Amino acid sequence: MRPSHSLLIGAVSASLACSGGPTSTPAATPAAEVPSAAAPSADGATLESVGLDPLAMDSSANPCTDFYRFACGGWLDKTEIPADEATWTRSFHEIRKRNELELKRLLEAASQAPADPNARAIGTFYAACMDESLVNGLGAQPIAPLLAKAAQVKDAASVARLTTELHAAGIWLLFDVSPVQDPTDASRWIAGLDQGGLGLPDRDHYLRDDEQTRALRAFYTGHVERMLALAGLPAAAAKQGALDVLRLETELATASKTRVERRDPKGMFNRLSVARLRELAPAFDWRAYFEKLSVPTSSDVNVTAPHFLEGMQAVLKREGPAAWRAYLAWHIVRSTARTLSQPFVDEAFAMEQVLTGQAEQKARWRRCVAATDAALPDLLGQSYVATSFAGESKTAAEGMVHAISTAFGHELDTLDWMDAPTRSRAHEKLDAMAYLIGYPSKWKTYEFEIDPKTYSSNALRARAFDVARELAKVGKPVDREEWQMSPPTVNAYYDPQRNHMVFPAGVLQPPFYDVKSAAAVNLGAVGMVVGHELTHGFDDEGSQYDAQGNLKNWWEQPVNDRFKQKTACVADQYSKYEALPGLKLNGQLTLGENIADLGGVKLAYAALRATRSSEAAPVAAGGYSEDQQFFLAMGQAWCAKSRPEFERLMAQTNPHSPPRYRVQGALANLPEFAEAFACGARPEDQVCSVW
Ligand SMILES: [Zn+2]
Repeated sequence: MRPSHSLLIGAVSASLACSGGPTSTPAATPAAEVPSAAAPSADGATLESVGLDPLAMDSSANPCTDFYRFACGGWLDKTEIPADEATWTRSFHEIRKRNELELKRLLEAASQAPADPNARAIGTFYAACMDESLVNGLGAQPIAPLLAKAAQVKDAASVARLTTELHAAGIWLLFDVSPVQDPTDASRWIAGLDQGGLGLPDRDHYLRDDEQTRALRAFYTGHVERMLALAGLPAAAAKQGALDVLRLETELATASKTRVERRDPKGMFNRLSVARLRELAPAFDWRAYFEKLSVPTSSDVNVTAPHFLEGMQAVLKREGPAAWRAYLAWHIVRSTARTLSQPFVDEAFAMEQVLTGQAEQKARWRRCVAATDAALPDLLGQSYVATSFAGESKTAAEGMVHAISTAFGHELDTLDWMDAPTRSRAHEKLDAMAYLIGYPSKWKTYEFEIDPKTYSSNALRARAFDVARELAKVGKPVDREEWQMSPPTVNAYYDPQRNHMVFPAGVLQPPFYDVKSAAAVNLGAVGMVVGHELTHGFDDEGSQYDAQGNLKNWWEQPVNDRFKQKTACVADQYSKYEALPGLKLNGQLTLGENIADLGGVKLAYAALRATRSSEAAPVAAGGYSEDQQFFLAMGQAWCAKSRPEFERLMAQTNPHSPPRYRVQGALANLPEFAEAFACGARPEDQVCSVW
């Protein structure tokens, strides 16, 4: 279980669907009064000169009724989602595209056998991945020994033994294991068990009965059958095996928690002794499991869903050897298919295509860049920051964090629903909140063999090495300086148990941050991101952790009751938005992210106001006031287009709202936005306000 809260998961989604939500308040100002994007202001400053893109806008749209269209309309009209993508954003994906090209250049140089051992490691890994004919020539050979073991299981005990071996190899099935911070003492690692073992993205994909989901399951069953056949099973066995896999996974899904249930930190932390694990799932040899993984069991183990282990026990008792053989073989293939020969890669993509609508596979070099970043993140990261992370962005980001943090402190002092004791504890948490910018202070090293001839085995060794390094943390103190994202990653996160925010070098790039852009534009783009991460410390989940990262209530009850009323307003607001016609957002699933978006834009705006009092009069650009530039920057950072399949998948699984609502939902609650565009005040009972 990773308790961190990132800015986006994997990718973001956007929707052009019309919203019946609160942003449809009638405009007080006709759109014609908004100045044209192209016109320079009296002093000659243009939108481009402050870092905004006038061509991305649609200045004929009414900013009061459809600000997303106003900020992004031009971009939405001219942008086509690339064939090898499911979604495309003006910020995240454009930056990622630049980063990928730079990483490719670095890796190609590194694959020319340089003297530096770090460069040689990433170069060899990348070159082995790029050697398509060698990979294709090996077929399923790299996983043949594992498949042979799967074909021999005969009872629950042998299933448990092979599961243990596969977990050590970083092949996940049945459940997941990782170190987690002790909920009552966040400074120490304990072992954590989480539900898992499914091949579809969500437990509801096994349980819902609508037409779309039934079709997805039918495709999935065929996909498992084709994969098992590729792995060498005779046709009849592959067919039956796929049915067995679906039944077995459905049983695991039934015992699993929903995504909304998984947002309750108290429910997710259940400290159990190994003796108690044996009571819940006696068919699994827990002692042998932890021993083989070198995990000490002197302290309790955290279990996110004790009920899931009981479900797993029932499945271990109920299912026969043939079903287990199919299940184990399927997860070995599923987990490694992208590192194997073309038929495996194509079949894995066929499933992805159904889930996301992506038309074409990514070019091999893009997949190999991503694989190298996953296997050797700190080695590739060192090369990346050397060429792509100027010192000035780090200084600017630090300044931004201080400005936003100060704004939150002021905000805390003025909130009328706070009382003195809770306010002072909130300040304590804010003061203790740390931040990491750019890249880690200590780089990790990697001790595993990288063979120029076998890409798949390299990838497996990288995983096994990572599992061993992770699990070796159990029983040890937590290093608060450790990173959970690689430096080139275009994302950011807040970790409630470490009470820190992390901003990788990858996100501190244009259009999020540009040294040449105006302060208002940088604050609207990356300032909002900083405010978003900081607010996670105080969202419906983060607020349950104290300054030290322990799951401990620091709220006075009446204040907490008022806080819950305020967050319920946000849940209601977003539950009305539609990702696709007829497909509403889940206001409970997206609650934490929506609270963070609201807080993010509000804090970034407050920081802008604070700089204004001390500096020269604000500069208009292209006829837009500084406040308007701020909101345009915020909107343009989230211009996005997605395929409908991807929209649907994200609405079901992603805790983030589609970008369109991340902009419009947040701004609908900000009177300063309405003021900046002369939209007229919204009735107070239609405005949500938390932080
Ligand atoms: Zn977030």
